[in-house]
Amino acid sequence: MHIREDDTGAHPAVTPIYQVSAFEADSPYFYSRKNNPNVAELETVLKTLEGAKHAIAVTCGMSAIFMTLEILRPGDTMVVNPFIYGCSYRLLQRISERRGFKLVDLDFSEDSNIDKIPEETKMIFFETPTNPFLKSIDIEKVSKRVKEQNPEAVVVVDNTWATPLFQHPLELGADVSLHSGTKYFSGHSDVMNGVLMTDREDLAEEFRETRFYGGLMLSPENAWLTRRSLQTLELRLKQQQMVCAEMKDFLIQQPKVEKVFYPKIDGQQLKGYAGILFFELKGDYQKFMQALNIFKTGTAMACVTSMVAQPWSGSHASMTEEEKKQINLSENLVRLSFGLENPDDLKKDLLGAFQVL
Ligand code: PLP
Repeated sequence: MHIREDDTGAHPAVTPIYQVSAFEADSPYFYSRKNNPNVAELETVLKTLEGAKHAIAVTCGMSAIFMTLEILRPGDTMVVNPFIYGCSYRLLQRISERRGFKLVDLDFSEDSNIDKIPEETKMIFFETPTNPFLKSIDIEKVSKRVKEQNPEAVVVVDNTWATPLFQHPLELGADVSLHSGTKYFSGHSDVMNGVLMTDREDLAEEFRETRFYGGLMLSPENAWLTRRSLQTLELRLKQQQMVCAEMKDFLIQQPKVEKVFYPKIDGQQLKGYAGILFFELKGDYQKFMQALNIFKTGTAMACVTSMVAQPWSGSHASMTEEEKKQINLSENLVRLSFGLENPDDLKKDLLGAFQVL
């Protein structure tokens, strides 16, 4: 039981997986619910990419969002742009009802609505480009408005779709940039993780404590796999960016496509954009989806394989029909996430599916 290999001279080429729950008393890692070398290494890579002072890695994107809500107290006001991932929206509603903070829906992707952000706002949450429709929200203007009224307020940007390669919310005044690393960071639909990035010491400490006491720490294997995937992040994103732009131009010309949604790349806030777009389909989604061969169905996206999905029944299934209608989300909206396949093959696949409509 007590036999141990002396590996002090092993010098592995990459950091091995520290598949341990506990460390000896003289280790700085203490216990894997608090810290672990694989998580620490991943966090260093992530904060370097995002240009953040702190990165806190957790089990998945939803836990990262959940952890931000821990900051709110009864009577506080939180503002959300409703064009976000359906589960995030439902989580905000659930927690606000249970904890007694006020949740205000406001579409501040319309610049004129930024002035309507309530003075008492304690936290504001949004995705930009938005999901769905990929509209832009001006991070700098929103942060300025919120902070002018309450310097302590917390501006949270879900930066999952933009990625740190193309957008740095913290540089534009946001307090937290969070990610579902299950998407582009993993890139292979085989590992879940989430990350909170911040420059604020108070928030970093708060998030580390919540992670420790709430048991939301990322596992060593998932940290290791994600760290490995990050070696190809830039390569994957640049290829996906190229394919997605080409597919946008192709889709615009298709008679069965009503409208294509693609973000505005202004070069200031958003410096590029990778692999996911939406379009309104003229025809039955089920027929279209079943006729595709290369595009796979399911919840995966931002990965190496191309995926097709219907936000109505998928990413936004947690919203009520009424809520979906309020954001103009119809059953005809299709989400395509482009992988690393040859774009000519993807076009052929789509043309075949348009023909059955
Ligand atoms: N944020 C965004 C933008 C997402 O698209 C998702 C999941 O699709 C999440 C957060 C939740 O992340 P996870 O599934 O890793 O919990």
